[in-house]
Amino acid sequence: MRYEVIIAGASFAGLAVAAQLRGRRVLLLDRKPIGTGQTSACGTLVNTLQALGLEESILQVHDRLVIHSAGRTFVYPMDKPFCTFDYARLCHLLREQGDAEFVLAATLDLEGDRVRTSQGTFQGDLIVDASGWRAVLGRRLHPALVRRDRLNFGIETTAAYRDDGLHFWYDPRRLLPMGVTWAFPIGDLTRIGIASYRGETRLGNGLDRFLSSLGVQRDGVHGGYFPYALRDPVIGDLFLVGDAAGQCMGLTGEGIRPALFFGTQLGRLLRQVLEGEITLEEGREAYRRLVAARRSGYALLCLAQRVLPRLPLPLILGVMALVRWPPVLRRVLTLYVGAFWLETTRR
Ligand SMILES: Cc1cc2nc3c(=O)[nH]c(=O)nc-3n(C[C@H](O)[C@H](O)[C@H](O)COP(=O)(O)OP(=O)(O)OC[C@H]3O[C@@H](n4cnc5c(N)ncnc54)[C@H](O)[C@@H]3O)c2cc1C
Repeated sequence: MRYEVIIAGASFAGLAVAAQLRGRRVLLLDRKPIGTGQTSACGTLVNTLQALGLEESILQVHDRLVIHSAGRTFVYPMDKPFCTFDYARLCHLLREQGDAEFVLAATLDLEGDRVRTSQGTFQGDLIVDASGWRAVLGRRLHPALVRRDRLNFGIETTAAYRDDGLHFWYDPRRLLPMGVTWAFPIGDLTRIGIASYRGETRLGNGLDRFLSSLGVQRDGVHGGYFPYALRDPVIGDLFLVGDAAGQCMGLTGEGIRPALFFGTQLGRLLRQVLEGEITLEEGREAYRRLVAARRSGYALLCLAQRVLPRLPLPLILGVMALVRWPPVLRRVLTLYVGAFWLETTRR
């Protein structure tokens, strides 16, 4: 029952940490079987999946982002393409890269080096909270960690609809005053959703109105909260990663790439700690620095999410048009994409 590393949460962030710890005694905990808890549209950068050896999960590649607003359409070509992928496939591919023991259990509490779960108590030298926005372990140590006013909320469905590119609609008058809708194609089907920047959870009617404007119907719904503000990545001896550390980005709601990026980097640091190359304190500091280096980008997106929807629509349309200008688009994409650029990390 004693492990070198215990990871609570076996989705993007938790699996990425575990993948870097092959050969060590690692326990992965999740309340759901691996690959069954999809909450998102699963859109991410192709490079990220290629760097991690996960390209087999790709369903469709998209080389343009399209924003629709007030009857106008803005097309942004992307020289670094995005893709939509199969969640279960990706989780299983990532899982196979590590050799952690998996226990299907709800994580309940943390006391020192002991993690209490629905299947008993486990001891760990290093403990990682990768349990998503709820941060089940982090909030035990820091009850104010999860702030409801720092959470977005979204739902989506899958519908028979074909398209190219990642599409967003910003239509405050017709659909949602403080939020967006999207359509992310995956071959013959498309993941179509709606999210509120105010964390509103009653989005079913808005989703149905949006679906009917596209002439399609919903087939099941999934979704949930996702944070838009960074939290402390280390609390006491606990490491937090992915949504548990608030690493999902504001405005765009992109959280998979940061979860995979920070999860991979954290896994590498923990390996260095276990192999005696660095001390635990150095590992903590290095992880803090890694996050802090991106703090200003997070703060900017957080501010943009709060301010942009409050601006007059003509001004927002002006910003969208400006970003279409190639030098501006190149600069924006370089900063946005470069923040979580992964070189091949396969061990
Ligand atoms: C509708 C919607 C659409 C989205 N679309 C995109 C998108 O297209 N692209 C993108 O980049 N981001 C998207 N996001 C955001 C993205 O889903 C998250 O940022 C991402 O999932 C974070 O990964 P994670 O591993 O940190 O957490 P999660 O994916 O939330 O995983 C947390 C894991 O912890 C487990 N867990 C939770 N509580 C416990 C417990 N008590 N005990 C044990 N296990 C537990 C869960 O079962 C889960 O497996 C979307 C979010 C929503 C809601």
